[in-house]
This record gives sequence, C-alpha cells and structure tokens, in this order.
Amino acid sequence: DSFFATVPLAPPDVIFNLTASYKADTFAKKVNLGVGAYRDDQGRPWVLPVVQEAKRRLLSDPNLDHEYQPIAGIPTLLAGAAKLILGADSVALQENRVTGAQTISGTGANYLGASFLARFYRPGAQVLISRPTWANHRNIFVGAGFEVQEYAYVNPSTLTLDLDGMLASLNSAPEGSIVILHACAHNPTGVDPTEAEWARIADVMRAKRHFPFFDCAYQGFATGDVDQDAWAVRFFVQRGFELFVAQSFAKNFGLYGERCGVLTVVAHNATLAKQVRSQLEKLSRSSISNPPAFGARIVSMVLSDPKLYAEWLDNLRTMSSRIREMRECLRDELVRLGTPGTWDHIVHQIGMFSFTGLTTPQVKVLRDSYHIYMTDNGRMSMAGLNSGNVAYVARAIDEAVR
Ligand code: PLP
Repeated sequence: DSFFATVPLAPPDVIFNLTASYKADTFAKKVNLGVGAYRDDQGRPWVLPVVQEAKRRLLSDPNLDHEYQPIAGIPTLLAGAAKLILGADSVALQENRVTGAQTISGTGANYLGASFLARFYRPGAQVLISRPTWANHRNIFVGAGFEVQEYAYVNPSTLTLDLDGMLASLNSAPEGSIVILHACAHNPTGVDPTEAEWARIADVMRAKRHFPFFDCAYQGFATGDVDQDAWAVRFFVQRGFELFVAQSFAKNFGLYGERCGVLTVVAHNATLAKQVRSQLEKLSRSSISNPPAFGARIVSMVLSDPKLYAEWLDNLRTMSSRIREMRECLRDELVRLGTPGTWDHIVHQIGMFSFTGLTTPQVKVLRDSYHIYMTDNGRMSMAGLNSGNVAYVARAIDEAVR
C-alpha cells in the first residue's frame, strides 16, 4: 500500500489543457484564442527584434558567466522595473522608499507578495479579488492561507465597469482588507476604470484603510504607451498609499518562458522599505534561493539603454496596434454579417483579451464544430486573431449565436 493512494487527482489547468486540445486538433483552420500569448499576423510567436538584439549582445560578451544572482535579483533590473512602473520623476523613488525583489515572472511576484502578507499583514485580513479575475489570483491567495472574497467588477449585461457595485463591495469589506487591482488591461474582461473612476476607488480604499496590491502583467501592451498603462499605480502613489506591484515581463517583452518579473514595493520611508526588503529576501531564499538570470539580463539591458528602450517602445506599439486592428476587424465583420447582439465592446475593451459575452454553450459549439478554442467564460485572446482567420472566426460566431 502507498500513502500516495490518499492523494486526490487534481483537475488539469483550464488554460494549459485548452492549448493541449488545440495542439491535438488536426483540423487545418483551427484557431487558438485561449492562452494569452502574442502571435504575429501569421499566427506565430514573435521574438521582439529588441530582444534579439539584446540576446546578440549578451551572447557575444566573452565575460558572460552563469553564476548565482543576488537573492533579490539583478539590481539594475529592480531599478529599471521600479522606474518603469512609477515613472522616472517619481517622488517615492527620489525619497528612496521603493524596494523590491526579482521573481518568477508575474505569477512569482503575486506569490511572493502573498507569502509576505500572510506572514506580516494583520492576521485574519481578507483578500478581495475582482469578479471575474485571472484564475491564479484565487489559487495563490488561498494557497497562502487567506480567506478570499470577490468584489463586483463588471456589469454582465453591458460588459462595462460596475463602479457602484465595486465601490459597494470595497465599502462593505472589513477595514484593512487586501485588494488585488489590475493595473491595466484587466484579465479577463479588458475593462479598465477611467481616471475619474480610479479616483473614486482610491477614496474608498483610503477611507477603509485597504491595502492596494496591483497586478501589472500588461504594461505598455494595453495602450501601447507604458506611462499611460502605469497611470493608476502612479496615482495611488501620489495619493500617499503604500503598495505592492507585481510586474510581469512575459507579455510586454515576449519572454513568457524566461520567467522574469519583479515585486515592487512602495513604503512610507526608506527604513520601512529596508525592513520589507530583508524579509522578501528571506522568503525568496527559502523558495527559489535566487532568481533566473537570462530573461532578467535581457530586460535589464533594454530598460537601461536609451536606444534599446526606444526600440522596445516601438515593438510594443507593433503588438498593441495589431491587436487593436483585430478588434476592429472582428467587430466590423460581425456587424457586416448582421450577427445578433451588439459588438462595440470588442473595440472598447483593451489589452490582450476581449470578454465577448458568448455563453458557455456557444463557446462549446465554436470548439466542437469550428475548432475555435477559447475559455468557457467567453474570453477571447485577441492576439490569436490574424488577417487570415478573422473572417472565419466571425462567421463561426455568427452561426453559433443564431
Ligand atoms: N496576472 C495576470 C492578470 C495575468 O493575466 C498573468 C498572465 O496571464 C499574470 C499575472 C502572470 O503571468 P506570468 O507569470 O507569465 O508573468
């Protein structure tokens, strides 16, 4: 007998399972709108030209070695990441009260932040996540031992922000709750608050003494402008909040598999920042010891070299504008076909995803009859669309909703 016999079989991960089904499908016109990974107009993964250049420079350096990195990661990466999200002119940076640690991409940044809060935040505090949200938020914070509750976020009939519902949820949560906020390009809805709406959210967060934990997986990828995509985080810093930001460089550098991320922390003063940093290092030491070097070297080089940085901004605009074009194409095709329903939300939503409003049975028809793969909640990864398949997808949606 084996004690493993008592181990229950866990269900497969929905997204990774969807990719496996897509790969096993032999239909020539199959379309993958599941995983949030950028594809070019030929449907292929895109290695950013600026990343290729950075790799060339790294690999031609005869002194490149494979030594351990510091526990908190590569210092120039941490500095570059903080400047990217907070802005070069950030008062918090000038006051030396920003710190952080390099992590296993955005997931690791969420995980490290959750582990830290589980040890040091007020015992019994609730974590609030948006309804809906990235599925891993619940996994990570429940895993860290928190009670996780949801706040209202999107109005299901209009697919726009339910601000009143959100404020009511934040208001009725226990004082000092931890609130997970998507910095930009909300996953899965593609619905972000406006600046005026963020101000109202900040007012309630302040009144209720909630702790803001921003998840920032799409900076620059959403609007094509890294500063605009950082607006909400910078606003909260200006308003005097201490906060966490989980930064991922998977999407905006196309470095998905290299697992480069940073947990950036803004504290009220330099002493507090130092205390936090020491504990982040202790947590990292016992979980990953020290973070991986390759992706971090690339990101760090690009963020600190003005010429490469400018090229990166250009590469970002290439990705975000292709996605925006696909939003227009899909909406226009559906309107042209006279598909029942309204489709303007596809062009109003931003970032990698569109929350289409398609129902689970309709999603199933698309998968079973048309070989088009997306998650059951009707979330479509817009990067999976291209000029060769958008008409096919529109026709399939048209037939599925009639
Ligand atoms: N947070 C959100 C909201 C995401 O959508 C993702 C990726 O899909 C991540 C975090 C983290 O991704 P990664 O760990 O690949 O950086």
